[in-house]
Amino acid sequence: MIVVYIEDNETNVELMRRILSAGGHELHHFSNGLVAIEKMVDMKVDLVFMDIQLNGSISGLEVTRRLRALGYTVPIIALTAYAMVGDRERCIEAGCDDYLSKPISIPLILSLLDKYQPQITSVKDNGEWI
Ligand code: MN
Repeated sequence: MIVVYIEDNETNVELMRRILSAGGHELHHFSNGLVAIEKMVDMKVDLVFMDIQLNGSISGLEVTRRLRALGYTVPIIALTAYAMVGDRERCIEAGCDDYLSKPISIPLILSLLDKYQPQITSVKDNGEWI
C-alpha cells in the first residue's frame, strides 16, 4: 500500500517507517499540513495517518477538513497524543475514518493496514460495484 503519514515527531515517523517497510508498504511523510495538502492532491495514496497536534499553521483536523472539502476520498486515520473525551467524535466530524491514541500500537497499525487494504474491484457502466 502507499501510505502518507503527516506527523511532526521524528520518533513516531521512524516507528511507522519500520512497521510499514516490514510489511512491504511505501511511506511518504510530511511534517507540515499545508505542504501535505499541496502534495497529496496529486499523489496516488491508499491510506493516510494524520497526527492531530501538528506544529505549523494548521492542525491535523484542519488538514483533514480541507482535504475533504477538496473531494479527497482516501481513508484518513487520526492519531492523537492526548486522548480526551470527545476526541473520536471531533476526528470523525472533521472527516477521519478511524482514530488511534498514541503511543503508536504496532498491532493496531497492522490491523488498520489490513482493514483499509484496497480491494480489487471493477465497476460496471451503471456504477454498480461487482
Ligand atoms: Mn504532533
